[in-house]
Parts: sequence; structure tokens; C-alpha cells
Amino acid sequence: MKLLEDRILSDGTVLPGHVLKIDNFLNHQIDVQLVDALGEEFYRLFGEDKGITKILTVESSGIAIAYAAARHFNVPVVFAKKGAHTNMGSDLYAAEVYSYTKNKPYNICVSKRFLSSADHVLVIDDFLANGAASKGLLEILEQAGASVAGIGIAVEKGFQPGGRELREKGIKVKSLAIVDSMTDDSICFRNDD
Ligand code: 5GP
Repeated sequence: MKLLEDRILSDGTVLPGHVLKIDNFLNHQIDVQLVDALGEEFYRLFGEDKGITKILTVESSGIAIAYAAARHFNVPVVFAKKGAHTNMGSDLYAAEVYSYTKNKPYNICVSKRFLSSADHVLVIDDFLANGAASKGLLEILEQAGASVAGIGIAVEKGFQPGGRELREKGIKVKSLAIVDSMTDDSICFRNDD
């Protein structure tokens, strides 16, 4: 998606450890118009599947994008919560995820009230790197017995294995920008094909 690629080129910075920082439009400050356009694009990519009942993401950066998409699908957003939540009860689906940016594992959980085997779910997240976050969300969907409509990602780092591994499982993975390589002074994209 050219709009997103251009914005990454103008505003993104590359941090050590292959981390792309885009906190002035997505990960800290949010450019609402841009995120609205991302939501519309996810609907173009997945909207032919009329059976989608929910969008699942993980807090916190996935929420805005998932919300923008959900307005077009007209379905609720469920976001997995990170860490232990004493006020969520014990009826939870849970998975362990290894954090790419923090370099340590954390738990994600979703109340059983919000996902069931009747759901057909589109997973949305901001970044796809090694795929741990997406796989954690898939694990939660498996526990719920829900079916997976696909995975929509804003920025995939194509030089890391998550996207390939998920596509090899037969999952429809669509990324709005795929970074092929990045250094301090250049970021290159590839097409999603
Ligand atoms: P994965 O679980 O696929 O290895 O990494 C995806 C998760 O890690 C995303 O939810 C995102 O929060 C974070 N992440 C991974 N790579 C980056 C990156 O380059 N920049 C930012 N801002 N977050 C990243």
C-alpha cells in the first residue's frame, strides 16, 4: 500500500535489532486518517469473506487498526490483554508470546465470553516479525474452537520468518507494507504476492 510505504519512508527510523520505529503515526501518536485508510484496505483484502464475525488483535498498538477495519466489517473488536489480569476471572483463553521488542515472554489472554466456536475471526496486528504474536492469537482461536479468516498486518518485516511460516500453514496473510530490507539510511519494500 503506497500510502503506508511512503509514510514509513518519510517518518520511519530504524533502531538496532531490526526494529522499525513508526511512533509518530502508529505506535504512540496515531494518524487517524492514515489508520482509517489501513482499515479500508483490510476490508478490500478480506471483505469478500462475508462470514467474519469478529476481529481479534492484541493490545495496545493493534487496537486502533483493528477498530478502523471493524467499522467496515461491522463486527466487534476483541483485543487480547497482556499480562495477568486479576479482574478477568478464570474463564480465559491464554497463550504465551515471546516479545520481539522487549526480548522476553509475556502472556496474552481473552475472556471466554468473547470468543466461541461460532466465530470466524480476522486477526489484525501492527507488525509481523517472527510471528510469535500472531501465533499466540491463533492459539487462542484454536482454544475457542473459532475458525480463522486470515491475518491482516500493517507492516511485515519480510526478512524475518513469521510471514512465510504462517503462509506455509495455508493461512491467508495480507500485509499492507512488506519491508524487504532496512538499514539506517534505506528501507526497501517488496510486493505482497
Ligand atoms: P512477532 O511476534 O511477529 O515477532 O513481532 C510482532 C510484534 O512485535 C508486534 O505486535 C509488535 O508489537 C512488535 N514488533 C515486532 N517488530 C517490530 C518493529 O520493527 N517495530 C515495532 N514498533 N514493533 C515491532
